[in-house]
Order: sequence, then structure tokens, then C-alpha cells
Amino acid sequence: MKNWDLDYKVIDMHNHMGLEYCLYYPEHDADGMVKAMDESGIELIVSAPCEDLFDGSGKREQITDAMKRYPDRIRGYYSVNPLLGVDINEIERAFKENPGYVGLKLLPDYHRTNLNGEVYEPVFRFANQHKMLVLSHTWGISMNGESCNSADKIADILEKYPDITFLMGHSIQGQVEEAIEIANTFKGAYLDLCDTCRLNGVVEKMVKKAGSEKVIFGTDAPMQGYHFQMGAVIGARISKEEKRNILRDNALGILRRAGCPNC
Ligand SMILES: [Zn+2]
Repeated sequence: MKNWDLDYKVIDMHNHMGLEYCLYYPEHDADGMVKAMDESGIELIVSAPCEDLFDGSGKREQITDAMKRYPDRIRGYYSVNPLLGVDINEIERAFKENPGYVGLKLLPDYHRTNLNGEVYEPVFRFANQHKMLVLSHTWGISMNGESCNSADKIADILEKYPDITFLMGHSIQGQVEEAIEIANTFKGAYLDLCDTCRLNGVVEKMVKKAGSEKVIFGTDAPMQGYHFQMGAVIGARISKEEKRNILRDNALGILRRAGCPNC
């Protein structure tokens, strides 16, 4: 019989609370998220709500409320949508007012803007100056054939802005080999298992080629569930220590360097 029990709780660094078009799940608000986390052994999520990423209301009420009510369970990414304009003063103000924010979230494919394009420049300058954490969606070639966040563009950004901690959301799916190379080349670059963990053998490959210290756990929850993605790590042919690095310890290190209070 397999014994997959963990003696520690997991941290999910890539999460999108709230509802997304064409998907329904009852546990999508702060209370529901915490309930699902309790059921799955998740201590902390860092979330960029769908409404901040997609609907453009700009109020960010869901995440600011969640961070206030569950300061030890829910932290936030400030989502940057360049189509709505980039206001660095507004970002600074939001971080001051909401200590639960720990980084920025970018979604170039969906906003159809190149990661290394002009529109993101002030964001990366600011993030680099403050040594910030940035989670970006990264993907080789998107469904519409564009490559807004492919490996070449990520390498370009990391060369220009060496002081950011850059989580490669989905580890540039379609270019995972290149993502591993980037993780090896740039100190601040990390591989994210969100969705990509379903590729057979990918966890073992990342650990072997980049080291478990460069791999982080993320889920896209509640759009995608915790159980399968946790199982992809817990069931991987890697050591206990390597699993713990991926599921918890690397995230803690990143959050502490990002100035996360009480992390
Ligand atoms: Zn995502």
C-alpha cells in the first residue's frame, strides 16, 4: 500500500480564485477557497483572481477582502492588464494599503501583448528596482499561433531585469526544455508545475536538470484541482526532500525574500 501522507502543508504559488467564463465551481470565493484548501492539505495560496485578470473592473475587491479575512491562508498577486493602462503609482499604493500582496501577475497571451514589449517596460523597471516577485503566464506557442510569452522573450526580460524573481507560469509549456535552461541560466527564474505537471516524467526531468530548488508548485485552482497536481509531485520518482522543496520550502523562501509578512 502506498503511503503518501505528508507531514507538512503545501503552498500553491499559482492560483486564480473566483469564477472564470464557461467554468463553474461552487468553492470560488474566500470561504470556499479555504474550505477546499483545508480538505486538501494546502496551507497558503497566492492568488490572482479571475476578475482582476479578465473583467477590467479594476476594483480588486475579491483579493483585498480575502487577504484581510484570511491573512495566513490567502496572499495576492496584483494583476497587471496593460490593455487598461499601467499605473505604477497605483501599484505602489495598492501594495502599501494591502500588505497581503506579494507580487505581480502578468498574462501576456490572453492580453495579446508581448512580454518584452514596450507596454511592460515600466512594470519590469519598477519590479526590478524593488526586487519583486513576478508570476507570468508563459507558454511556447499559444492556440492562436502567437508567442507573446515564449522562451526567447523571457530570456530577454531576465537579462534586462536580473533582480526580479520570475516564476515561469506553466514552465513555458511546449518549450519546457528551454524553460529548464532558463532556470539554470538565471538565478531568479523558477519553473512552475501548474498544469505542466500532467506531462509524464516532467517533474523528474526538472529536478534532475535544474534541481528541486528551482521548481515550485502551482495549480490554477479552482479552475484546476489540487489533488491531481499534488499527486503528480507526491507520486514522482524523486526524494522526500525534493518533494518538500517543491511543495513548500521553495515557496516559503521566495515569499520571505518578497517581504511576505509572517511567511
Ligand atoms: Zn494561471
